[in-house]
Amino acid sequence: MTGSNGAGYERFLELWSEVNDLSRASAVLSWDQETQMPEKGSEARGRVQSTLAGVRHAKLTATELSDALASAAEGVEEGSVEAAQVREARRELDRISKIPESLARDLALAATRAHESWRRARAASDFSLFQPDLEHMVGLKREEARLLAGPDGRPFDALLDQFEPGVTEAELEPLFTELRGRLSSIVRAVTESGKAVDESPARGDFPMEAQRAFGHRVAREMGFDFEAGRLDLAPHPFCSGFAPTDVRITWRYLADDFRSALFGIMHEAGHGLYEQGLPLEWDGTPIGPATSLGIHESQSRLWENLVGRSQAFWSWCLPLFHEYFPGSRDVTVDRLWPALNTVKPSLIRVEADQGTYDLHIAVRFEVERALIGGEVEVRDLPELWDVTYEELLGIRSPDVADGVLQDIHWSFGGFGYFPTYTLGNLINAQLFVAAKDALGDLDAMFARGEFRPLLDWLRDNIHQHASRYPANELVERVTGRALSPDDFLAERARVAEEVYGVTV
Ligand code: ZN
Repeated sequence: MTGSNGAGYERFLELWSEVNDLSRASAVLSWDQETQMPEKGSEARGRVQSTLAGVRHAKLTATELSDALASAAEGVEEGSVEAAQVREARRELDRISKIPESLARDLALAATRAHESWRRARAASDFSLFQPDLEHMVGLKREEARLLAGPDGRPFDALLDQFEPGVTEAELEPLFTELRGRLSSIVRAVTESGKAVDESPARGDFPMEAQRAFGHRVAREMGFDFEAGRLDLAPHPFCSGFAPTDVRITWRYLADDFRSALFGIMHEAGHGLYEQGLPLEWDGTPIGPATSLGIHESQSRLWENLVGRSQAFWSWCLPLFHEYFPGSRDVTVDRLWPALNTVKPSLIRVEADQGTYDLHIAVRFEVERALIGGEVEVRDLPELWDVTYEELLGIRSPDVADGVLQDIHWSFGGFGYFPTYTLGNLINAQLFVAAKDALGDLDAMFARGEFRPLLDWLRDNIHQHASRYPANELVERVTGRALSPDDFLAERARVAEEVYGVTV
């Protein structure tokens, strides 16, 4: 402990941890809603979530907490852990003080309702079933963004800041412009090459139970601790960490293509490893959680794409694959690997290949900015979605289920969330270069099924710091450079060359 006010600091952490427990309770209920809750439970669940959000809001805005924080802040040394605790707490309190409790409750209730109507609308492929709840949600989010941004700020920046502190639309715009340009050239070159990848090695008959067991095994080999975590089926894959000792990941599957389940599980287990690696001593404190969603995505995507889609990984994994799926015994690494690294425009973001994934994100970035900025309305979304897909990926969905209704995010008010996926891709590519510099021949390790050195490097360099450093600072500390798209684009070009023989 630094500074003169140890008792004030302790009291502040105690109060903070109570608030954190309410957030955890709410996260457990959300996990339950996705994996277990019967459909009719949604109205009652919405009330519980709204009550929890209200109580949390009241505790966060109570003078007792702000007084404790003021007292804790006295005498804190610059650059210390305590200073980081104060910084993160202030950020949260500043944010919450701008949101009236009634709005916090309305948002929680709206999210539960919109989530159910989104689910129904998607199943029926009927946007009108979701539209009224989404309109209500967008109204609340615009109001929230306006309050958070204040008279001089930009509303969309305020929403981005929730997920990626400090990142602005103005910073993202040139980044997405460059990515759109370079990725489109790769896609064009691949299309013009006329070469198609044979995806049949990834297809076949993959029983659900075997897919679950295979994914579970791979996650365990990666280092995911199943005594501190669970894997459950859900309509949408996600990871929810209630504590480093209790991390829930979910999965879904296609019966005729193993890629969806395996890479989904590797992705969520990558998130889960980060959650399990957060330091217990900071659990429940302001710097306890992950520092940003971009960093979170860098962890999931590193395991999913840079490990899971590499030749080296498959030279280790192939015997396991044969063991779990005896029907695929004739599959070899040479035949399979290209099918894991295709560049082919498709409709569904979460099933998209890594050559086109960030173009899906670019669509959402365009649409959300226009929506939150008030340039378009909810009723315009299906058409705007299709037009933007046509422009960036050259394809159009035949229905809204696989078009504008495909993502869960807007139903819970997660506007400004999508760009973090692309930031995660840029960060993971840069981190991976640094990890190779530090550890040497990672491919040789993967080929032996040794993932511990990489995990330990991530624990030391990323996980153990939790939110002590802001995301951009952390990237610079670890890689010695500011974040840039260079490593990511170089990796995309390399894969396109190896799989399709095109140079861009
Ligand atoms: Zn993710």
